[in-house]
Amino acid sequence: MATTADAVLKELDALVPPHLELYEDLHRHPELSFQEERTSGIVADRLRELGYEVTTGIGPTGLVGVLANGEGPTVLARADMDALPVQEATGLPYASTATGTDASGEEVPVMHACGHDMHVTCLLAAAQLLAEHTDAWSGTFIALFQPAEEVGTGAQSMVDDGLAQAIPTPDVALGQHVMGIPHDTVASRPGPALSAADSLRVTLYGRGTHGSMPHAGTDPILLGSAIVLRLNAIVSRELDPNEFGVVTVGSFRSGSKSNVIPGTAQLQLNLRSYDERTRLQLRAAVERIVRAECEASGCERPPEMEYFDPFPLTENSPEVHEKVSAAFTEQFGDKAIEMTRSTGSEDFSDIPRALGVPYLFWIWGGFDPQTYHEAQAAGTLARTIPGNHADTFAPVAEPTLRTGVRAMTSALLAYLAKGD
Ligand code: ZN
Ligand code: ZN
Repeated sequence: MATTADAVLKELDALVPPHLELYEDLHRHPELSFQEERTSGIVADRLRELGYEVTTGIGPTGLVGVLANGEGPTVLARADMDALPVQEATGLPYASTATGTDASGEEVPVMHACGHDMHVTCLLAAAQLLAEHTDAWSGTFIALFQPAEEVGTGAQSMVDDGLAQAIPTPDVALGQHVMGIPHDTVASRPGPALSAADSLRVTLYGRGTHGSMPHAGTDPILLGSAIVLRLNAIVSRELDPNEFGVVTVGSFRSGSKSNVIPGTAQLQLNLRSYDERTRLQLRAAVERIVRAECEASGCERPPEMEYFDPFPLTENSPEVHEKVSAAFTEQFGDKAIEMTRSTGSEDFSDIPRALGVPYLFWIWGGFDPQTYHEAQAAGTLARTIPGNHADTFAPVAEPTLRTGVRAMTSALLAYLAKGD
């Protein structure tokens, strides 16, 4: 049976060429977190042309477009707009050569290495389909474009900057991410889908001395090494083996010369979990071990610990999942699959959580199905399909674009369609 989504998506063919052009343009012009001025300008212009009521400057580079179309539910869909400080190595004809200035004032290469350019393009195409087929649906559609997902604070910045006052309260919120699965496949799951993450900067204060006189100082490198070893025992020896947790020390910096014992050392940690209880357990264990090791080393000054780039748990509503995954199955057949829990993280859920509404966040693929399935069978998936954030991350623009628009449009119409 043909659904409303099928009827609306019949017009997708005509939208593909201009949106591929838009995608390549966005890909060539990536912008770092909270600097998405050009991107949000392009999005705002397009939404206005399509008849959306647009509010810009929320968060500060975020924006929303609202299309009110009579009685019915209010549905919010979100795309993120920012890129990463990565030197692109895809070799694509539309590869980025852009540079930007990061938050610390350093000049860095910039690349859409996480596919947010694809998210923006797909949501704009879905917004156009809804605007051109107002006869097929009823209700209110909110297209939300957020800044700074990569630093974990963009969604919250829109909330803090008055998002709730700028839009009608939605009944449901939707979001999607392109990832390393086949480009004909859409995957979602109820409950925890993406991990919660915390980053933590630890500064250790030892006492500097001459390398020949270690007894006259407190060596922060030895102290830091003991901490790194001990932190790696949290997951293996403190966490229930049935629970998921990751504790990674991603950076350890200290010292400058072979015969100087430095005064300080700095570690940067990343913690991941699928529930708040485990998250608190990991944080408490890290803090306890750092303090205790400093005491064991006889540090005169206590360590400093500073959390940054927090990402919330993405925990999908079972009801929203049921409704939308049924629409995905109608649209994609057996290519609508159950998503495996991802250890990646997203700040999308900060928006529905602040608005008090249920949500669904799903993923779709950007890579050649045959290459994917062959690599999967050979056990070489991790080496064959570049992960998000890799300098070679390059979704096959088409049909990835088409799949993303079909997924978003069918999910929206699961709520908004007349008479399905
Ligand atoms: Zn990312
Ligand atoms: Zn991303």
